[in-house]
Amino acid sequence: MTLTGKTAVITGASAGIGAATAQRLAQSGAQVLLVARRQDRLDALARDIGAKATTLALDLSAPEAAQAMLDAAVERLGRIDILVNNAGILRTSHVDAFDLAELEPLIAINYTAVVRASMLFARVMKAQGSGQIVNISSIGASLTAAGTGVYGGLKAALERFTDVLRIELAGSGVRVGLVAPGTTTTEIFGDMKAKGQPGWDEFIPPLAPDDIARAVAFMCEQSGNANAARIHIYATAESF
Ligand code: NDP
Repeated sequence: MTLTGKTAVITGASAGIGAATAQRLAQSGAQVLLVARRQDRLDALARDIGAKATTLALDLSAPEAAQAMLDAAVERLGRIDILVNNAGILRTSHVDAFDLAELEPLIAINYTAVVRASMLFARVMKAQGSGQIVNISSIGASLTAAGTGVYGGLKAALERFTDVLRIELAGSGVRVGLVAPGTTTTEIFGDMKAKGQPGWDEFIPPLAPDDIARAVAFMCEQSGNANAARIHIYATAESF
């Protein structure tokens, strides 16, 4: 129970890695605010976690969402120790087939929303002299492969932003880090599968959401002068 007395905001908590992370952080003692759009899913997870959980249904692609999330967190939790920017979507396609209508939502959720939340929460954490921001990247951030230019490019940009945020907050008491998951079975491959493509999790034995959640918890449990700033979790059969 190393996170007893701490509070955590987890985005994308209605499914996959976010839901598993919320469970893990709550098991470690943290009070958790679960954020995503699907209220019914958030309610089910909150019931499962118990008194340590509260929910906020929010579309993070809206420009005002990050401030609304911060306001709700301060009001409900009192203080903010941990922010996990996990919500994200995956759209992959070759240049011939990429649906350009998907471009702005992808940028809004996978990059802009994370930057907005990181900056707003960082200011509060810096003022209180402590905090932990975890941004969920992907091993795809450092992979150059056909079809992944937009998704991987945004994750690469997110990694640069996260590293610079860590540097800007050095010595403030605020830890910043990124966790880069490998192929993990979640709903994120639903769009691919709906389009008749095989999901990436069908090619190798994939990771489970809790494999990533344990890495996030490890990052949040650092103490003293340690900051576990970058964690990559590959599936054992991942071969790139
Ligand atoms: P899931 O599809 O299972 O979950 C995505 C979560 O993001 C859901 O809770 C969804 O909730 C939320 N979300 C999506 N859009 C919005 C939005 N506009 N506003 C608020 N919440 C939103 O995906 P994963 O758990 O796999 O993905 C989590 C993170 O892990 C992502 O950042 C992804 O890029 C990263 N990742 C995943 C990998 C994998 O193999 N699964 C590999 C590498 C990285 P709701 O629909 O209710 O809003």
